[in-house]
Amino acid sequence: MTAETHEFQAEIKKLLDLMVHSLYSNKDVFLRELISNASDALDRLRFEGLTQSEWLPDEELRIRIAADPDERTLVIEDNGIGMTRDELVENLGTIARSGTLEFLRNIEQSSESSPELIGQFGVGFYSSFMAAEQVSVLSRRAGEDAATLWKTDGGGEYTLEADKRDAPGTTITLHLKPADSDDGVADYADEWTLRQIVTRYSDFVSYPIRLTVMKKEEGDDIAKAVEIEEPLNSMKAIWTRPASDVSDQEYKEFYSHITHDHEDPLLHVATAMEGNFEARALLYLPSRAPMDLYHREMAHRGIQLYVRRVFIMDECRDLMPEYLRFVKGVVDAEDLSLNVSREMLQKDRQIQAIRKHLVKKVLESLKALKKEDEEKYLAFWAQFGPVLKEGLLPFDEKKERILDLVYASSTREESALTSLDAYVERMGEDQEAIYYMTGPSREVLVGSPHLEAFADKGLEVLLFSDPVDEVWLEQMPPDFQGKKFQSVGRGEIDLASKEEKEGEESERDQETEAYKDLIQCIGNAVQNDVKEVRLSNRLKQSPSCLVVDEGDLSPQLEAMLRQAGQEVPERKPILELNPEHAILKSLQVIFEKDGTDARLAEYAQLLFGQAVLAGGGQLADPAAFTRRLSGLMEKAL
Ligand code: ADP
Repeated sequence: MTAETHEFQAEIKKLLDLMVHSLYSNKDVFLRELISNASDALDRLRFEGLTQSEWLPDEELRIRIAADPDERTLVIEDNGIGMTRDELVENLGTIARSGTLEFLRNIEQSSESSPELIGQFGVGFYSSFMAAEQVSVLSRRAGEDAATLWKTDGGGEYTLEADKRDAPGTTITLHLKPADSDDGVADYADEWTLRQIVTRYSDFVSYPIRLTVMKKEEGDDIAKAVEIEEPLNSMKAIWTRPASDVSDQEYKEFYSHITHDHEDPLLHVATAMEGNFEARALLYLPSRAPMDLYHREMAHRGIQLYVRRVFIMDECRDLMPEYLRFVKGVVDAEDLSLNVSREMLQKDRQIQAIRKHLVKKVLESLKALKKEDEEKYLAFWAQFGPVLKEGLLPFDEKKERILDLVYASSTREESALTSLDAYVERMGEDQEAIYYMTGPSREVLVGSPHLEAFADKGLEVLLFSDPVDEVWLEQMPPDFQGKKFQSVGRGEIDLASKEEKEGEESERDQETEAYKDLIQCIGNAVQNDVKEVRLSNRLKQSPSCLVVDEGDLSPQLEAMLRQAGQEVPERKPILELNPEHAILKSLQVIFEKDGTDARLAEYAQLLFGQAVLAGGGQLADPAAFTRRLSGLMEKAL
């Protein structure tokens, strides 16, 4: 049989190139990646063996490493599930995950790439090219007789040919590059190097990793294969040990083992459930958000489910709500059946109970972190805050527990975020509501005219600028510590105290009366853009602003819904004008002289345009606005 030559997908070529010209400073990790693939293949065989018991080999499930210093080869072999010819092409010749593609694009754009991210995207296998010049994969799928040999030298092509393998499994043979300590390439055919790497990175792998080395005994001329008796790894499931027995370092290494993330986690939560349902869990919060955090279908390697130490599945989504999808870790349940399926999990009462327990634990741990180490908490918040706030959307969640964790920017201090409880603590006695404003960014929000009356009264306003904020605040969040949320950009605002009100009311009545006709005239000029023009209580320095009517969608939310393809009825804002402003006073003078003066309509348009811009919005006809403005400037000079 002759070998068939195939070309790699363009992205793989790029990836191989990155590996060959190495991105990681730490090349040792290629071995961990290959061992982890082998361990996954054994997991899958063990799992499928529950129903296909004839697939399970008589010998133990294990991973073998064989090194030959003279030939400079390193072999990693498993008797796991194996791959068919098609699977080899699919798994090693193409990249299916869009997360990986995005990662590659990002790497291309930024000069300082972040090698730590590689593992998250499942490019593990290709990392072998950091250590090898040529790689071959001989594999036979469990349940099949045929084996296939896949081979490449890391250029643009690979070959495939039919081959033989005594039993199902996969053998990966690396033709090693020469060791080069300057470049971080160790001697990967050396027994002690291999021992060290395996205990460092793969100690928790639950199958024995056995090492065979070609050695010359004293007096021998030719090297013989010598098998090391003890497995290289301890295989201890860390979550079964009491927390007091496990060092921080061990927790970190386990994290990196299950997530392929090489950065230390921010926090780990070890918990055990007792009583009706027994389960143990070891959960982690990563330090950094993965790039696929917002591609929900793509995000992988979340919670792994084990049943009595037997691996059942990766990404067990039923154990964590969407808004905690960044939580990683393992859950080991005592009482589930080993052949539980994803469909069954959804309805399983035990899974529901475990999930409830885990959510509570995670939120409690975050609350404790917030209290004990606010700086660290804020680092978490910067990465995952917007995702956590998604938990404020569903109707069935206990939102108070999440509100407890929310931080926001505020008008009080430019750079610092504040928690809601700190805000409430600072509220004056007669302040009834938690004032907030939403918009595209803090910069736009702080300059907003809507804040003027609040600034005047010394009232702090929270500034929310994540897209998700529009949605949860719009849905009327529950009271927080007995205080309602009140948007400063919506409905009528009245900040006057009782005594002030009495005086102001008659003053306002007079103003309303005096400006009545002018308001009507301005209203006619902008009737296509606004539903109402009225005098404002919230403006101090600015002449005008736009306000969302009570019960209407905010413009940002409207835009988001449209973008998501939803039909949203057109709703116009209210234009509020500042009766104390010189512009309005002068317009009144002009109006009294001649109610048909053309300047009135021009100014009405400008006041509206200004209000749109000040709110961070976009003008429907910017050219017309600039024309008006230029005309005005010319006259003024
Ligand atoms: P990842 O392991 O993150 O999915 P890899 O590029 O390392 O990414 O591997 C791609 C795929 O190739 C794996 O998902 C798996 O399906 C298959 N694979 C790799 N190594 C083995 C192996 N030793 N046995 C069986 N399948 C394997």
